[in-house]
Amino acid sequence: MNEGRLDLLIIGAGPAGLSAADAAAREGLSYLCVEKGLIADTVYHYPVGLTVFSTTNELELEEGSLRPCREKPTREELLSYYVRFALEHSLRINTEEEVTRVEPLDPEGFRVTTSRATYEAARVLVCIGGMARPRRLGVPGEDLPKVRHRFVEPFPYVRKDAMVVGGGNSAAEAALFLAEGGARATFAIWPADWENRDPKQGCIKHWVRGPLEREIAEGRLRLFLFSEVSEIKEREVVIKDEQGRTHALPNDAVFVLIGSDADLTLLRDAGVRTERAGLTEVPVYDPDTYETNVPGLYVAGHFTNSRHIKEAIAVPRRVVPLIAQSLRATV
Ligand SMILES: Cc1cc2nc3c(=O)[nH]c(=O)nc-3n(C[C@H](O)[C@H](O)[C@H](O)COP(=O)(O)OP(=O)(O)OC[C@H]3O[C@@H](n4cnc5c(N)ncnc54)[C@H](O)[C@@H]3O)c2cc1C
Repeated sequence: MNEGRLDLLIIGAGPAGLSAADAAAREGLSYLCVEKGLIADTVYHYPVGLTVFSTTNELELEEGSLRPCREKPTREELLSYYVRFALEHSLRINTEEEVTRVEPLDPEGFRVTTSRATYEAARVLVCIGGMARPRRLGVPGEDLPKVRHRFVEPFPYVRKDAMVVGGGNSAAEAALFLAEGGARATFAIWPADWENRDPKQGCIKHWVRGPLEREIAEGRLRLFLFSEVSEIKEREVVIKDEQGRTHALPNDAVFVLIGSDADLTLLRDAGVRTERAGLTEVPVYDPDTYETNVPGLYVAGHFTNSRHIKEAIAVPRRVVPLIAQSLRATV
């Protein structure tokens, strides 16, 4: 044990964890935020140069404090904003330290084990996001080194045959980046996803679709409406079109961008119940307090039903004062 008992241990320093740490400091709690990667690690892993889709008021931790050059911030502007926020507010965050176990204690409180230390805390707020496990196609060849489940930048793929497989906005943006960046790009998308125009159903944002359609019309991006990827080989991808006909497309790199899921092992091992919500599994929690079935163990952020950055920031602002209240009641 290398600290006295904490009031609150926060797991993850994404927008939810940062908002929680800020709220905990305001409440005068003894807290620590433990992050396995870097501050705002998910934003750090966005494609280089990406312009995010949210407006500043949905992303900022203090009103009016995020001032991008254009209307919406780039990955770099947003990342440095979150890092500066943590530094300027002297938030207590340990980076590159992974929480491996959360163990409820009797009669109350938790022992939290990390890759570096063991802590005791009266309350735990889990803000681990939903990016831990990129979804896989589950086809032969997916483990080849040329297959990636994240897109970073187009430069290594100039004049190469690069295929993006996916149906959402991130896949569409990667295809666009590759086409604009000089790759021989193919966007393999399921027909229903290409037809989808409903923002509530995760359609491609209209400001991405416009330039994407231009790249297709001008011959720099090949659109391939597919029914199934059969196999990824060293030099080609074997893929079926919407009529079920098989094609072997020349290929140097594949990006499988079909979403990702949270790793709920930590929560399940601590006794938290989970349930199915659409394609994903989410923890069961009280929708008012965000407390799980394990008393004193709370959740917030992108792996709950309150997704995206706006909610990831808003929820801890409601939950941490409730945690502070519950702690004061037990004194
Ligand atoms: C390319 C891209 C663009 C996006 N654009 C937008 C946008 O414009 N607007 C928007 O609202 N949303 C956007 N999103 C989604 C947005 O990134 C998430 O909603 C947001 O990051 C959720 O914040 P969070 O704090 O809940 O989770 P995260 O930001 O994912 O933070 C969770 C943190 O927990 C850490 N962690 C996980 N497990 C452990 C552990 N065991 N121990 C310690 N630390 C751990 C992770 O390293 C991570 O830093 C985008 C996503 C992608 C991929």
